[in-house]
Amino acid sequence: MSFLSGKRALIVGLATDRSIAWGIAQAMHAHGAELAFSYIERMADRVVPLAKQLGSQITFPMDVASDEEITRGFATLKSHWSEFDILVHAVAFATRDALSGRFIDATSREGFRIAHDISSYSLTALSREALPFMKGRAGAIVTLSYLGAVRSVPSYNVMGLAKASLEANVRFLAADLGREGVRVNGISAGPIKTLSAAGIPGLRKMLAHVAAAAPIARNVTIEDVGKAAAFLCSDLASGITGEILYVDGGYSTVGMSFPGEADAGA
Ligand code: NAD
Repeated sequence: MSFLSGKRALIVGLATDRSIAWGIAQAMHAHGAELAFSYIERMADRVVPLAKQLGSQITFPMDVASDEEITRGFATLKSHWSEFDILVHAVAFATRDALSGRFIDATSREGFRIAHDISSYSLTALSREALPFMKGRAGAIVTLSYLGAVRSVPSYNVMGLAKASLEANVRFLAADLGREGVRVNGISAGPIKTLSAAGIPGLRKMLAHVAAAAPIARNVTIEDVGKAAAFLCSDLASGITGEILYVDGGYSTVGMSFPGEADAGA
């Protein structure tokens, strides 16, 4: 079913074929969307060939930490598309030292600023630029969050605070843009081994713990997240906005579990 046919999506945050953005791009392409991609300069060699695989010739650099790059990026996009429907925000960053050790020691003023700027403020900045392109269309914006927004998670540290800000950002943008026909949602994904996630100490333990405790008894994949994002950005989700949809195999819904003992009786 091509429930995204006729839709155009800008994907921000593709780095490699392990990126969540790649899972989303593949699902959107499979359901008929036309795609454009932005990337940070050093990822150009990886992103441009991936974009081509999905029939996209529209790729351009855009570092979301820079207002000038955002303005230039959207100007480049405008030379290809005067309108588009979907913005995928799959971007996050914290310095390595912010993601290791005790939260109280690892969280500096500058580390806090960088994490919030790149991982949360950028959603507001990109949505502002995207809005004129979505005029008169059923626009949809989706971003990627994590459980660390609402619960403490070892080593996730300041990224948890930035994700809490991102989730509030989703609600404020949804309230602001709804009258213009634009919906804004987030997906809270379970842990997946990507380039960024590899920077979180203990990722392997985290993956094993979640796979053992989650109702679906495995970790989620970029394909799982991609399908949910395609749905949320399609007209099938026309009544959904301001939501955070958990795509975590049900992990966040479990109060207690005894992995491996499910069938063992009392
Ligand atoms: P990834 O490394 O593949 O993607 C992160 C992207 O952010 C990269 O493309 C990187 O280039 C981009 N980025 C970083 N700084 C940037 C900047 N200044 N300007 C523009 N782009 C910048 O990793 P991923 O895991 O696919 O991450 C995508 C999103 O998913 C992130 O928001 C991440 O927090 C979120 N997420 C990841 C997991 C996980 O376990 N992998 C779980 C939940 C949520």
